[in-house]
Amino acid sequence: MVYDFETSYRAMSSRDVRFDGRFVVAVTSTSVYCRPSCPSRTPRRENVRFFRLAAAAEAAGFRACRRCRPDVDPGSPEWNVRGDLVARALRLIAGGAVDQDGVTGLARRLVVSERHLHRQLVAEVGAGPQMLAINRRARVARLLVESSALPLAEVAFAAGYSSVRQFNEGMRAAFGCSPSELRRGKPAGPAEGAGHLVLRLRYRTPLPSDPLLNWLGTRALPGVEVADGSRYQRTMRLPRGAGCVTVEFDQVPEAARQGVATVRLSLTDPRDVTAAVQRCREIFDLDADPAAITDELGADPQIGPLVRARPGLRVPGCADGFELAVRAVLGQQVSLAAARTFGGRLVARFGEAIQTPDHRLTHLFPTPRALAEADLEAIGLTRRRATTLRALAQAVDAGRMMLDRGVDREECTATLLAIPGIGPWTAGYVAMRALGDPDVLLTNDLGLREAARHLGMASGTRGLAAHSQRWRPWRSYAAMYLWAILPTRDRATASEPGQR
Ligand SMILES: [Zn+2]
Repeated sequence: MVYDFETSYRAMSSRDVRFDGRFVVAVTSTSVYCRPSCPSRTPRRENVRFFRLAAAAEAAGFRACRRCRPDVDPGSPEWNVRGDLVARALRLIAGGAVDQDGVTGLARRLVVSERHLHRQLVAEVGAGPQMLAINRRARVARLLVESSALPLAEVAFAAGYSSVRQFNEGMRAAFGCSPSELRRGKPAGPAEGAGHLVLRLRYRTPLPSDPLLNWLGTRALPGVEVADGSRYQRTMRLPRGAGCVTVEFDQVPEAARQGVATVRLSLTDPRDVTAAVQRCREIFDLDADPAAITDELGADPQIGPLVRARPGLRVPGCADGFELAVRAVLGQQVSLAAARTFGGRLVARFGEAIQTPDHRLTHLFPTPRALAEADLEAIGLTRRRATTLRALAQAVDAGRMMLDRGVDREECTATLLAIPGIGPWTAGYVAMRALGDPDVLLTNDLGLREAARHLGMASGTRGLAAHSQRWRPWRSYAAMYLWAILPTRDRATASEPGQR
């Protein structure tokens, strides 16, 4: 949503943190831009300009305030709700798409001309793709400068700069000081080698981490993932190499948490840091806006009490959309335990063995190419399920389908549904977790229907669909609240068939 000047000015004057990430405040008299909640003195109306993105303020010649740090994540949640061209472009740029394939590659991916893409982005957010990518690079570099002990020359390389000089100039332009000045005064972290980093990721509180860790833990794929206590670890296939990540939440009560998760990255190519960080953010839904979700869902007579009692539940994303889709198919009509068993066999037989810092993490998930012609019946799958998986792998391998947050959600869902053995439940589940759609309702999910019945709501497919209209655009989050009231038990759930 776009706020008018008066609304923005009032939001800023109240220093309400809920507006952070929705826009930034630039002050012409100081050439500095701030979060709406910045504790600095409220600037006079005539000196204020509002921008929707930090990158746009920087493009207009403003520098990030050193006090309120408007340049750090989490970003605006609005872009994750929307599925249009601008939102898709922003998500891809956040994942490092421009550093990887250039603006040309980004435009090709979105099936538009570079000129059209540029025009659309400038019109809506005030900065073109190149400027947004430069801004992204500066933010990643600053994260590395301030929260890792990586030598500065290696920070430049890892963040995607082609030279140390370009790095120094980029940082000076964005923040008004050199990388070494930014690092000065920061406590020296533990010794880290190249490609082995410890970073702090910000999110909006509250975030109850136990439900997320439990969710990931009960589904953890042997050889690829481990979730124990307050930690989650997994291997990742990244654009330039392999990675192993560990995400950890402070073990203090939710209310006392600072809104920071610690992530440890071990990468074969340090330039994968942007992609790895973005995937960690997606797995834990760190860009969500719990205040907005609680405002909407908390008002519902049926699920409102659940939401108000435990605000901040997240929708778990994934590290890789293809992996998630394969696992959704493997889980059809079987229990969680059986799905893990099949998944473990699939990984051991068709995955790629790698070295990691943890002996329990032994493989990368199989590539689409490795599964496209694989003898999947050999791991105990029925012929029908094996055929579905091969068709899925072939579609992704041939480039007919991509499964990430940069796709057109409707088009991707239609392509998925055209594969025999993939029905609305599986396609919806993939949209929810791999495409990042916050507004999916899995009407034929048995768990959701059972929970709805328990709350005295209409639990038939049609009744649930009708009631859920008032949960828009947060129906994926409503599902998390509904599932959370069911006793944890190991069973097959959905009628489609499929399971969570
Ligand atoms: Zn400020």
